[in-house]
Amino acid sequence: GSFDAMGIREDLLRGIYGYGFEKPSAIQQRAVVPIIAGRDVIAQAQSGTGKTSMVSLSVCQVIDTNIHEVQALILSPTRELATQTERVMQAVGNYMSVSVHACVGGKSIGEDIRKLEAGVHVVSGTPGRVCDMIKRRTLRTRAIKLLVLDEADEMLTRGFKDQIYDVYRYLPPELQQVHD
Ligand code: AMP
Repeated sequence: GSFDAMGIREDLLRGIYGYGFEKPSAIQQRAVVPIIAGRDVIAQAQSGTGKTSMVSLSVCQVIDTNIHEVQALILSPTRELATQTERVMQAVGNYMSVSVHACVGGKSIGEDIRKLEAGVHVVSGTPGRVCDMIKRRTLRTRAIKLLVLDEADEMLTRGFKDQIYDVYRYLPPELQQVHD
């Protein structure tokens, strides 16, 4: 398999190759095509097998950069993972002017508000801070079409269940979901 054969947009392919990836990993070969086709996907694989990168590049492919609203929300159990996903998305999305914001606890709320109000395409965050931003109506959810639960089982065991259900209440009913 190759990234070229996956129907990935040209500017994103440049970013993927520029980041140093030559070939999709096994999990990427199985999951990227269904995700970009709009299907709900549960991708189970060990960490370190390319799952974070799979999420990053799939999300870049499905957002429309001409629409200045949040279109994808990625929830992760730790600040580190949420920030890592933001970084990988910025790297692979380097040639397609995608704006990503890591919305995580422990960082300045003022900065979150400023970034979100300026307009971002993707939010990668931890459940508590994301929930807070949604309730403040700073994170507008109406254009969200894709929800990713990264390390979904880890999030449920860490006790984020109530916050995640809370987030779901604000999301549009027609929602594509990826759990990994
Ligand atoms: P991840 O599970 O996405 O965090 O990836 C684990 C490590 O493998 C990271 O260092 C990634 O940069 C790297 N990686 C992920 N996908 C690929 C790929 N298709 N080709 C080469 N390296 C990759």
